[in-house]
Amino acid sequence: MISFDKLADMARAANPQSNTDLLRRAYDFSVAEHAGQTRHSGEPYATHPLEVASLVAEMRLDDVAIAAGLLHDVVEDTLTSIDRVQAVFGPEVAHVVEGVTKISTIPFSSSEERQAENFRKMLLAMVDDVRVILVKLADRLHNMRTLAHLPEERRLKIAQETLDIYAPIAHRLGMKKVKNELEDLAFRHLDPEAYETMRAWVDRRRRATRGTVTELRRTLEQTLTEAQISYERIEFRIKRLYGIHQKIKRSRVSLEQVYDLIALRVISTSVPDCYAALGVIHQTWSPVPGRFKDFIAMPRENGYQSLHTSVVSPQGVPFEVQIRTEEMHAVAEEGIAAHWKYKEGRIGVKPDEQHFTWLRQLLEWQQEMGDPGEFINNLKVDLYPDEVYTFTPKGEVKALPRGATPIDFAYTIHTDVGHQCVGARVNGRMVPVRTRLQSGDIVEVVTAQGHTPNRDWLNIVATSRARSKIKHFIHAEEKMRAVELGRKLFDKELRRFDINAKSVMSPEAVARVTGEFGAPRADDLFAAIGYGRVQARSVLAKLVPEELEEKPGSPSIGTRMRRVLRRGEDKVKVRGFDDLLVFRARCCNPIRGEEIVGYVTRGKGVSVHAARCPNVLNLLYDPERRIDVIWEKNTDESGFIVLLGIQVEDRRGILADVTSKIAALKTNVLKVEASSNDHHGRISVTMEIDDFKHLQRIVKVIRGVSGVLEVERLMR
Ligand code: MN
Repeated sequence: MISFDKLADMARAANPQSNTDLLRRAYDFSVAEHAGQTRHSGEPYATHPLEVASLVAEMRLDDVAIAAGLLHDVVEDTLTSIDRVQAVFGPEVAHVVEGVTKISTIPFSSSEERQAENFRKMLLAMVDDVRVILVKLADRLHNMRTLAHLPEERRLKIAQETLDIYAPIAHRLGMKKVKNELEDLAFRHLDPEAYETMRAWVDRRRRATRGTVTELRRTLEQTLTEAQISYERIEFRIKRLYGIHQKIKRSRVSLEQVYDLIALRVISTSVPDCYAALGVIHQTWSPVPGRFKDFIAMPRENGYQSLHTSVVSPQGVPFEVQIRTEEMHAVAEEGIAAHWKYKEGRIGVKPDEQHFTWLRQLLEWQQEMGDPGEFINNLKVDLYPDEVYTFTPKGEVKALPRGATPIDFAYTIHTDVGHQCVGARVNGRMVPVRTRLQSGDIVEVVTAQGHTPNRDWLNIVATSRARSKIKHFIHAEEKMRAVELGRKLFDKELRRFDINAKSVMSPEAVARVTGEFGAPRADDLFAAIGYGRVQARSVLAKLVPEELEEKPGSPSIGTRMRRVLRRGEDKVKVRGFDDLLVFRARCCNPIRGEEIVGYVTRGKGVSVHAARCPNVLNLLYDPERRIDVIWEKNTDESGFIVLLGIQVEDRRGILADVTSKIAALKTNVLKVEASSNDHHGRISVTMEIDDFKHLQRIVKVIRGVSGVLEVERLMR
């Protein structure tokens, strides 16, 4: 059992400037808040935070982290609020305490491997300060050490969670000592029988090989000295029980085949000495083929560096030798926590290890800042910058790219859920579909029967899955509408020429013509008509047999066509089509004479835009739906309604000048509005215009009025 004084000593040993007063206050606070509470072991509750703080101190973290260790359970387990912690101990301590408390509320539930990985990532992604993870690991380590006092059900749950979530995180952070202890403790609770068998076996092996090991060690010392290779010391280690257990399960080997059960470890003085020692070792004993691994040149993802080889003793006992420098050893044992002991940053981490960016960044920061205290203070980590981890209401984790929306989330559940998504409840609050999800969000998709995706979604979603589902839906839907439109156009063409569909549309004739147009099926040909790629009239022309055309008493198709063309009443028509549903787009309100383009809309016919319309550029993304349009001859009397905005100097009489000029051009003015401020005036005129030339004349004369600064055409 540790005392507060011991803790304070440890903190001072790591950092002579340690603020004992702060730690003392945190300790007293924790004791007072947890007063009356006991652990399952029967001890006063405050022993737990004290032990946790001492583990944090052992990692040589700063006072903030140690204080947070002392206070880590007060928000979760007592009536103290995080605001109170902040008021008494400041924002930094409170931030770490809050982070640890938040992790405790994550409903870890699944031991399925992929889910576990997502949980781990999410946990790391939620944390913006590495001290939160380290305090949490210390917390978990002490809980595991005292796990025996808990009822069985909770014991198994916590042990499994430790194995699934916390041991791998310790591993990821390179904290081998913590990871090993967590694993062995979990193993012992989850499978006591296997644990006991293995422990007994390893014990026997240890005793049986004691002589050999001593012998090997002496030989190694001697050889290295003779070869004049300098080294710090030689250690001996026996593989951890859970490590052996895993190895046997994974590689399907027997206990006897676990070559690295016994390992000698050479702690060298320098990297060249590591390789020199390796050479000598391979000369002294015969190496086991395929067992040499150079983790110095190619560090593991978590920063682990060492040379590994297996050799066979003269007695035929295989054993592993690990060779590394003191620094590499510290990193191997303590991982991230070792980095601020070696703040010179000499630990070699290959910069191109993509997964290792975050640790490299830590090292870089560490190099920039001389003082380890300052280093930790500035430590804000984003371990998975490209992903966010979200939950379903049932607690299943969904990993999504950063920037993902409820729509992306919905498509991960089911295509139909995606199609019908109209919004989501995030953490219980209704949000729009374009909301960017954050790690830790609990997302409940809101759907509406019959709701369908729209093209705008393509600009919102972040996952390729959602994008392709939406595209697929839109294309299918558009094709359906194109087929519909195509059929209507074709029917109109039949009516126009007074042709009975039955008389010309025998299955054989349809199949023949469909083939002539290179369409797989009749629907594809109708779609081509709907998209404007094929003219209904040219399809009809191929369907109508020559003899029908020449039937006496019935005018030929050519005659009928001329008749129809004479009738044209629309202001615009689609080149090659008559009475197609055509409308002028409201956004740009094109008028006769202006350059125009048509665009086949979904089921509403063809919208006609002015070529100058900014939307036209946006429509170019689907050239299939563009269609040529031309202005019809003017036959009706009504003009086009146009709104002009005129900026003028604030001069008396200018409004009258402008309106009289417009009237002089025989223009019907429908509405005039004028306003002025700050020596500038604004006049807007709504009028009826015959065509583009008419409009150009009007603009020209208005520009000629003295005091007019600018004339522009506005949207109505
Ligand atoms: Mn705790």
